[in-house]
Amino acid sequence: MSDDDIDAQTQRLIQRGEIDRAVSLARERSNHTTGAARGWALLALASACNSAGHFSEALRSALTADALFTECDDAAGAHEALLRAATALRAAGDHAAAIELLERVEQHARAQGDEHKLAQALRMIGINSSILGRHQHAVSCLTEAKALCRRVGSMADQINARLSLLNAHNREVEGLPATDLLRRSVCRGLVPAWQALADDCEGPDHRRMRAMALGNRAITLHALGRDEEAAAELRGLLPEYRALGMRPNEGLCLSELGHCLVALGRHAQARDEYLAALVVLNEGGTVEDRMAALEGLALAEEALGHPAAALAALKQLRALERQCSADAAQRAVMRRELRIELARLTSQWAREASEDPLTGLGNRRALQAWLAEHLPRVDRGETLSLVLLDLDHFKQINDRFGHGVGDEVLVKVARLLGVGCRAQDRAVRYGGEEFVLALAGTSRDGATDVAERVRQAVADHAWAKVSPELRVTASLGVADASEAAEAQALLTLADKRLYAAKIAGRNRVVTAG
Ligand code: GH3
Ligand code: MG
Ligand code: MG
Repeated sequence: MSDDDIDAQTQRLIQRGEIDRAVSLARERSNHTTGAARGWALLALASACNSAGHFSEALRSALTADALFTECDDAAGAHEALLRAATALRAAGDHAAAIELLERVEQHARAQGDEHKLAQALRMIGINSSILGRHQHAVSCLTEAKALCRRVGSMADQINARLSLLNAHNREVEGLPATDLLRRSVCRGLVPAWQALADDCEGPDHRRMRAMALGNRAITLHALGRDEEAAAELRGLLPEYRALGMRPNEGLCLSELGHCLVALGRHAQARDEYLAALVVLNEGGTVEDRMAALEGLALAEEALGHPAAALAALKQLRALERQCSADAAQRAVMRRELRIELARLTSQWAREASEDPLTGLGNRRALQAWLAEHLPRVDRGETLSLVLLDLDHFKQINDRFGHGVGDEVLVKVARLLGVGCRAQDRAVRYGGEEFVLALAGTSRDGATDVAERVRQAVADHAWAKVSPELRVTASLGVADASEAAEAQALLTLADKRLYAAKIAGRNRVVTAG
């Protein structure tokens, strides 16, 4: 099984509605794997928890996966992890925090020219911005996502991007009064746009999307006061929603039909549609959709001269409003908890991501960051050198004195390295028993002196205090940025010299060749 199969398997279970099984499968797998495989299992768990409404666990899983992928330099996995974390935040209603994470993915994707990832990030930023009411920003992100999807996305990606953009326009006009000129002009543009999207949704795969697009077109017609047309379309769509099992859409469609009929003065018919809508929506519609249907029902009953029935509908509406504000309060508490969790995890991981837990020195990533900052200065005439240090016969030290002593040696060597460092230098644990001293403003001669001092300090250290027979030495390779301008080439050169030091008998510094 490849690393991301577990993710695909879990998605299939989620699609079949077997959420509990998806959660336990992914959780079990994440407990029994390591590295990138565990990362994918955690991403699967994040999706399953999202579907189950466990947003806090979803967020924690996705961010743990991000840390794991980052650890093994898997940028694609890390991006996917941030997208899932953002999905959890969005589902929990924390759109602003979701956008913060997505903007990180956006930046990386732009820097790396990964248009596919960029389109995904922009689309999610657009959706979240639209919900927050930042319409202009939403439309600009979604327009760019749509253009990118046209270039690099699958048919489904393209359709999704267009759907998101049109939805953002819908939200933009929703808040405006019916007579507003902007609203009317946007709506007039939306009618053919929804039609074009429906026309492009060919084949059985996109049937649901087509039905959704046509439903939206009809709703826009109603917004423009073209109620006869809208009612006819909505009535035509009902069997399709039923056939596709799209119950919430069916309920919404019936309710919209009621709105059109009220506008046309056909109150008795409207009442029947609202009642039918409520039967469907009570099964699985959102509270907002049920409230809109009840409000319409109350209006229709009033117009029909049935005050008692109107009052009954209004009482139900009031009960839903109370439920809504209780839910909103609960969601606010949950959002606060997620925020705290997010802040705690990100600060912890920012530290862990660049720190070696055993020695407290920086790790490989810290070195990369240091080099990215300092290497450009070499072009401006500054000097820079690296010293690569590898302990001699460290395996034998472990074998003879035990792993605990081995660890103690690593910690002590880290401290000896730190002593030779100035503020602008950086000592890192590069791998198991390999360390790097990155020296700013230091040429090869200077670095050779430092390396020699370190070699001497390691060899002369009072190791007998750790264990009576213990001896520790190190071999070192030195390289200067004037010899190799790229980070990787510079490290390779230092490594080559380190290897030469090993061949030449260990416990020495090699600076050339
Ligand atoms: P050489 O002189 O050629 O470098 O020989 P070596 O034995 O030092 O090199 P080798 O690469 O064969 O072995 C490195 C050992 O370092 C093997 C590994 O178990 C040990 N090691 C790596 N990380 C740690 C650690 O965190 N703690 C301890 N105690 N040992 C570690
Ligand atoms: Mg080694
Ligand atoms: Mg070694």
